[in-house]
Amino acid sequence: MDNFKIIVATGNKGKANEINDLFGEKFNVMTMKEVGIDADIIEDGKTFEDNALIKVRTIRPLIPDDAHTIILSDDSGLCVDALKGGPGIFSARYAGEEATFEDNNNKLLKAMKDIPLPQRTAQFVSCIALIFPDGEEWTCRGTVRGRIALKEIGNNGFGYDPLFIEDKTGLTYAQLNINEKDNISHRAIALKKAYRKIKTKYNI
Ligand code: IMP
Repeated sequence: MDNFKIIVATGNKGKANEINDLFGEKFNVMTMKEVGIDADIIEDGKTFEDNALIKVRTIRPLIPDDAHTIILSDDSGLCVDALKGGPGIFSARYAGEEATFEDNNNKLLKAMKDIPLPQRTAQFVSCIALIFPDGEEWTCRGTVRGRIALKEIGNNGFGYDPLFIEDKTGLTYAQLNINEKDNISHRAIALKKAYRKIKTKYNI
């Protein structure tokens, strides 16, 4: 299995680390940076699936044709029930195109300032897209439910992690260490499905 290379179509270090933690033992996982690819990816899809496919389709023509290279992307975000599913696909740029994680978290807390905890329900969504060497495109989803905290709690992770209280543990993602998050996260759920897809396709 280790002769398969997976190129991850993301510039987000937090995501790349999580993907490497889950796939790295079995596959040779490389980021775009590591293979020397720099692409301006225009995420103008209407769904997580659209945007995940846009990412892998943008990268594909830039890599040398290799019978053992699979391209993988994640498009993900936080969907808050009280915000009618927002910020959703706009999670990365919720507070503007150049927004930092801190800007986004502050905007979310402000938008929800009058909403009590029971009504702060939300879900994290991850959509993984794959393009195989034969051109097959494939997507799947992982979701995890939780609530938006009243303030940031915890120091680990990235993005909205300090604001997302995961339902089963009662802890924010930022209170979990990377191994604990890798066991239960929306991305882990989707990546495990992607892993099964690769195994089934190549009978490995
Ligand atoms: P994308 O990179 O275009 O898919 O945007 C994903 C955005 O959703 C990130 O920039 C974060 O703001 C947020 N996000 C996705 N997954 C996570 C996570 O596991 N923790 C915290 N924030 C996340």
